[in-house]
Amino acid sequence: MSDFDYDLFVIGGGSGGVRAARVAAGEAGAKVALAEDDRYGGTCVIRGCVPKKLMVFASEYAGVVEDAASYGWDLTQGPFDWHSFRSRLNEELDRLEQVYRNLLKGSGVDTFDARASLAGRHEVKLSTGETKSAKHILIATGGHPVRPDTPNAHLGIVSDDIFHLESLPKSLLIVGGGYIACEFAGIMNGLGVEVTQYYRGAQILRGFDEEARGLVAESMRERGIDLRVGTNIVEMAPASADRSMSHAGTASDAAMGASAQQVQEMQAKAEASDGPIWVKSTNGGERVFDMVLFATGRDPNTKDMGLEEVGVKLGRRGQIEVDDYSQTAVPSIYAIGDVTDRVNLTPVAIREGMAFVETVFKGNPTPVDHDLIPSAIFTQPEMGTVGLSEEDARDQEAIEVYCTSFRPMQTAFAGRPDRVLMKLVVSKATRKVLGCHIVAPGAGEMIQLAGIAVKMGATKEDFDRTVAVHPTMSEEIVTMRTPMRTA
Ligand code: NDP
Repeated sequence: MSDFDYDLFVIGGGSGGVRAARVAAGEAGAKVALAEDDRYGGTCVIRGCVPKKLMVFASEYAGVVEDAASYGWDLTQGPFDWHSFRSRLNEELDRLEQVYRNLLKGSGVDTFDARASLAGRHEVKLSTGETKSAKHILIATGGHPVRPDTPNAHLGIVSDDIFHLESLPKSLLIVGGGYIACEFAGIMNGLGVEVTQYYRGAQILRGFDEEARGLVAESMRERGIDLRVGTNIVEMAPASADRSMSHAGTASDAAMGASAQQVQEMQAKAEASDGPIWVKSTNGGERVFDMVLFATGRDPNTKDMGLEEVGVKLGRRGQIEVDDYSQTAVPSIYAIGDVTDRVNLTPVAIREGMAFVETVFKGNPTPVDHDLIPSAIFTQPEMGTVGLSEEDARDQEAIEVYCTSFRPMQTAFAGRPDRVLMKLVVSKATRKVLGCHIVAPGAGEMIQLAGIAVKMGATKEDFDRTVAVHPTMSEEIVTMRTPMRTA
């Protein structure tokens, strides 16, 4: 008989937490409880990957209708109905949340719709007032979007807010150059919003292969996104109606000349404002946008949880520090997913949850393998990537780069200038493919499969031995014979 109420108490009902709870209960026979203070499914299902991808689909129909004429169809494009889409989206999210609840119930997990914090190394305190004890505690509380320190930054929205908008803005400024910024720039542009994007660095998607991110940036601009690099917001305030300011979409950066006092007045009204926003950028330009979206990163959810009080160590950004087995500095407490700020992707959190159950409940210590994780950025076109960028690879060893960029059949026929990119970074010494980068419609689907080969350690010659599937875009990945360059 255990001295504890539960073998495992999971805090957080997102992808990682739910998977760990139901596998521990369903497969390992553990007595498990889970607490979630928001909706089940977490960031991915409720305010991230899933609704985002549905919005990507929604945003691509305008282009499909345009191109259809080249294929002989007589289609007329009507306006996009945000309300109708949003209510279908909400129904789908309700359905998915129920699926998550049912999965837990079906596995015999006790659930608490409550906020949980630590009251000891084996105790969890719930906002209902109850305290539960557990032999092991798993923290899977995820993260949240953060705004920069810019004055009046609260006037801007964050990605969580997008799915609840009452209406779409006419003009939108997106700040940031990471996954979320670039994905929403494409989505909103496709839905008919005038999108401007400010990124403080020299090129968006820092850390990814330079050639690939260059093509994504170029394609975004070709599609009408006003992408400005080396630019950031320095100040923002509600735009007063009686001021004659240049409106984004109707004019480029224009001087407005608001006095300091006028700006202060506008700032004073900040709390009440949900109207147009005046923005001053680092290059001195001043513009007005209907809405500003900050996609400037995410922080781990570790505040007010009693973590440090019981001895759990936190890193500089507030992330929980764990070892290869996701164990914290307190042996009974583990953490997985975005709260540990390792690789912040849903499938990785799920892997970490399964490895935790193997280690703790199945007697099979399993470190999490964070090497060669394929991922996709759902820009338009998408970018799929696995392994090293050309830049990182050449810092490591001598390489050959195989690369091709071309106009794909489907959109070329419709008269679009779109180009795609297929790229392999190959080790000269071992012939192994160190990195594969694809920018193309459907690149997310392609990189999942290429990722298997790369993870298996396939060589360039293994790719060459594979017969092309014709006519496809991805056939180029097995037909590139001559290196574009060596380094
Ligand atoms: P990222 O960390 O990817 O990007 C943050 C961006 O904001 C960077 O361009 C950064 O610039 C910029 N930034 C940070 N602070 C400031 C500031 N003070 N002023 C101006 N710009 C700033 O975060 P995201 O929010 O885009 O995404 C969070 C995580 O979510 C990703 O890392 C990813 O793991 C995950 N995700 C994955 C998706 C997918 O798999 N398709 C989709 C969406 C999210 P700089 O580069 O200079 O630091």
